[in-house]
Amino acid sequence: MAKGRPNRRILDSYTVKSINKTIRAGDCVLMRASDSSKPSYVARVEKIESDTRGSNVKVHVRWYYRPEESIGGRRQFHGSKEVFLSDHHDIQSADTIEGKCTVHSFKNYTKLDAVGNDDFFCRFEYNSSTGAFNPDRVAVYCKCEMPYNPDDLMVQCEDCNDWFHPNCIDMSIEEAKRLEHFFCANCSSGDQKKLNSSHALTRHSDVKVDTKRRRR
Ligand SMILES: [Zn+2]
Ligand SMILES: [Zn+2]
Repeated sequence: MAKGRPNRRILDSYTVKSINKTIRAGDCVLMRASDSSKPSYVARVEKIESDTRGSNVKVHVRWYYRPEESIGGRRQFHGSKEVFLSDHHDIQSADTIEGKCTVHSFKNYTKLDAVGNDDFFCRFEYNSSTGAFNPDRVAVYCKCEMPYNPDDLMVQCEDCNDWFHPNCIDMSIEEAKRLEHFFCANCSSGDQKKLNSSHALTRHSDVKVDTKRRRR
């Protein structure tokens, strides 16, 4: 029986000469955009194949979309290195690969000490025909109720654990960086009482009066 495309051979790996990098299925790669003014495309290699002589090497890829390329466009909470794993598959010449890259999970990305040129992150899958995202909801934070953009500094309330943009709570970035403790407006009234009462216990005998006084 014919096996589909008997004139093709599956390769375990392929070394892209121009960059001297070996590509394997599962690797994430940057591919040259036909319009050179555009950033490189990000893709995951699913399969590598060649003709029977081992030349004319093609990669089967699954594209990652940048927010700009999605139907809804870039939103405020999208990170600069955010990409969406799309359902868009393609076959490309292996020689359009211009580098390897890493697409991190959102969690791992936020833990990186330094974000390199080749670091990206993905927290959504994207349906390229409907524009739908999976998951279609994410946790939102702050008074502005936005999903977390890892490019933006946020401060965490030690009581309710919600995160806040300094901007949304009338704080400068510098002030936020200097903070050792932070309690949001909702929590701070209750917390001031706690602070006051422990303070009072060490310094005053009349605890009852002192716990009711709000420190400012
Ligand atoms: Zn905010
Ligand atoms: Zn709070």
